[in-house]
Amino acid sequence: MKQSLIQQIMRGTMVENPKGVVSGLYRGYYLVIQTLGPQQGTHVITISATQGAYAPRVPVGEFLQNFKAANKHVRSAVYQENAIILTATTLRGQKFVEQVNQAVDAMVTFLSQNGYISGCCSCGETQVAPRLSNINGDFGFYCDTCFQNRSALLASNQQMIKSKQGNIAAGAVGALIGALIGVVLWVIIYQLGYIAGIAGLVMAVFALKGYEKLGGKIDLAGMIVSVIITVIMVYFAQHLSYAIVIYQEFGGGSVTFFDAFRSVFEFLARYEDIRMLFIKDLVIGYLLTLAASFSTIWSMYKRGSGHYTTQRY
Ligand SMILES: [Zn+2]
Repeated sequence: MKQSLIQQIMRGTMVENPKGVVSGLYRGYYLVIQTLGPQQGTHVITISATQGAYAPRVPVGEFLQNFKAANKHVRSAVYQENAIILTATTLRGQKFVEQVNQAVDAMVTFLSQNGYISGCCSCGETQVAPRLSNINGDFGFYCDTCFQNRSALLASNQQMIKSKQGNIAAGAVGALIGALIGVVLWVIIYQLGYIAGIAGLVMAVFALKGYEKLGGKIDLAGMIVSVIITVIMVYFAQHLSYAIVIYQEFGGGSVTFFDAFRSVFEFLARYEDIRMLFIKDLVIGYLLTLAASFSTIWSMYKRGSGHYTTQRY
């Protein structure tokens, strides 16, 4: 984020570290602005807030509901554990600065008027200064105990997944079933006259899901098997789409659908223009599948295999 913009956020009390995460102490409240939200084009504001000695005059849930209703860019505003978590569509440049300043000032004014104090965003401890922490991609100010507990939980989850026995054969069957759903979608989209790369994404995701469901877990072997099945099934879907076109043209009588399916190779061998079209469709289909599914598959693999990151700043 541009330094000149950060200096204008919350009167210059914020610093950016790591990239995309702006945090600091503002009017006594620990605050994190995660500009690269979990969904693209959104940001997440987390403000540590522990209820003080007396009950708030206005319940925090009611305040947040009203705030969300009055601000159309706000996607969600919740009070969770001991923090307000606000997710909103990110405006550009200078508008983003105004958007964040306005939202945080409204939150902090509410919190201070209702006796909230600030500490650990999880347990609410306010005696010891919390530290900015990354818990598997979610940033907040955590006390030492909560950070250690979260890290231990993630580690034991990973250990559990690692010790689980995967079944490649069953997983492959699952991947195949998942991919077939994508094949159906591919054929339908192709019938409508489009190149069906988006169906490739569905194919890849469902193959991986299917593998996880029947194979027990996603590991490197599962990922490789799922990708190979997806590559084969993209070709199969394309071949099937051409077979349907041929059957629609020449089918009926003695020509069965299987004849049409087999004849695709013959058509490709005999007619150069059909061959070129087939190759072009297939290459574009593969590229779209790859583009659509790379980051999705990678993050599914990381989550499914229990991979995690934790860090403190
Ligand atoms: Zn804590």
